Amino acid sequence: MSAAFVVAVVAATTLEASLQSIAWPQQPAARQDRLPATGGCGSIAAMPISCRPACAACCIAPSITSPIPGMPDGKPAGVPCIQLTDDLRCAIFTDPARPAVCGGLQAEAAMCGPDRLHALAWLTELEHATAP
Ligand code: SF4
Ligand code: SF4
Repeated sequence: MSAAFVVAVVAATTLEASLQSIAWPQQPAARQDRLPATGGCGSIAAMPISCRPACAACCIAPSITSPIPGMPDGKPAGVPCIQLTDDLRCAIFTDPARPAVCGGLQAEAAMCGPDRLHALAWLTELEHATAP
């Protein structure tokens, strides 16, 4: 196990602890009937493995540079997307305003791993490795 991966696991563990205390934003009622029956990344249709419900690591760990409704400058790494509902689904899954990058991130075994903690660590390490 590389030192970078250990650092990423520690960072993800800290992040996971922080997530426990987050008051997740409540979504307007009008959006609730558009929620997908998937986890946060919501890319379940064409992926080789299933997106794990209530994971949402893809919507928290990576930075997103394109605009998101409610986050016009995108979001920093490690910050939950404002469009994540309190049950960790995407509130704008079918909305054209959903960033294209969200649909491009497909579930795969190495990234998703056995649990959410693994996914947060893996994506955090990827974020650090690809930071400008
Ligand atoms: S827009 Fe939806 S899929 Fe994209 S990061 Fe936010 S909650 Fe996740
Ligand atoms: S890491 Fe995998 S299981 Fe978790 S939200 Fe992303 S695609 Fe879904």
